[in-house]
Amino acid sequence: MKFRLSFNFNQIERAPLRFEGTAPAGCFDISDDDLVRFGDVRYELLVSQISGGAMLTGWISARTTRRCVRCLRGFDFDIQVRDLDHFYEKEKDREFDLIPDLREDILLASPSNLACAEGCKGLCPLCGADLNDGDCGCRRDDLPAGGAWDGLDGLRVEIGPAKKNKGVSHGESKKKKI
Ligand SMILES: [Zn+2]
Ligand SMILES: [Zn+2]
Repeated sequence: MKFRLSFNFNQIERAPLRFEGTAPAGCFDISDDDLVRFGDVRYELLVSQISGGAMLTGWISARTTRRCVRCLRGFDFDIQVRDLDHFYEKEKDREFDLIPDLREDILLASPSNLACAEGCKGLCPLCGADLNDGDCGCRRDDLPAGGAWDGLDGLRVEIGPAKKNKGVSHGESKKKKI
């Protein structure tokens, strides 16, 4: 059976609707190159009727494992969205799916380009050793400052003179002037 988190206005007419539990990670369809693992999503949600519609409030959290952009190691990163709120305009006989909005909250709370730690030293650009484990002994001061690709800026690619084709612009001479 497919996991659902949804409500309709009949259900909240008398009292708010409460959801509490764990949703399988798969139904949020979250993927990202740096995301090694996305765990199940815990939630505690309340849908209450307010004037003109309904309000979804509560929190969600998920444990993820991400890949550090500097040293490429996996590290745990907890996504937490506290005090989420979404408004749903009143519509009779409609089943409102909460998953898309929760998914959006999760995406907003999961920044990309995360390092495992503020002081992560990353990998040696010469031998690839993880510098967090200690120095590899390479002489990195020989590298040009600013990164390995900077040298390319000095290269100039000579391109031969382009053939001029005088016949090409005929169609364009009929531009409308306003
Ligand atoms: Zn790292
Ligand atoms: Zn090295």
